[in-house]
Amino acid sequence: MIATVAKHFTFDAAHFLDRLPPEHKCHRMHGHTYRVEIQVTGEVDENGFVVDYALIEEAWRTLMDQLDHRVLNDVVGLRNPTTENLAAWILARLGLLATHERHLRVRVYESATTWCEVYASALGELADPTEPAAVHRPRAGVRRV
Ligand SMILES: [Zn+2]
Repeated sequence: MIATVAKHFTFDAAHFLDRLPPEHKCHRMHGHTYRVEIQVTGEVDENGFVVDYALIEEAWRTLMDQLDHRVLNDVVGLRNPTTENLAAWILARLGLLATHERHLRVRVYESATTWCEVYASALGELADPTEPAAVHRPRAGVRRV
């Protein structure tokens, strides 16, 4: 049986999008309470799990330390921290969840009404977590709402 499990987290951070024109409001430094939803789809194992929720939490914890109450532009690999690039950055670093063939999706909410989702349909499509995520974006799907 195939199933999807998900766990969400929130963190607060500042960013600015200096590739946008100066008159665009997102060019200026501002902050968000981001909501990150990590979804894992795969075969249900003999324990009745797709993946232990505790493993999702463990995978997130190291990323949380790098993102929470930071200026995202200062984080290595996030020079241009759009929601798309942030979601791809997170997806590329979920190494703990990528030890088996599972389908991973990361959805990042920048506000209550806007989100972006990136996904890797198989382990082989995950980016190298040691490299800036944006370099590997072409292999990950991006959906923005
Ligand atoms: Zn923003």
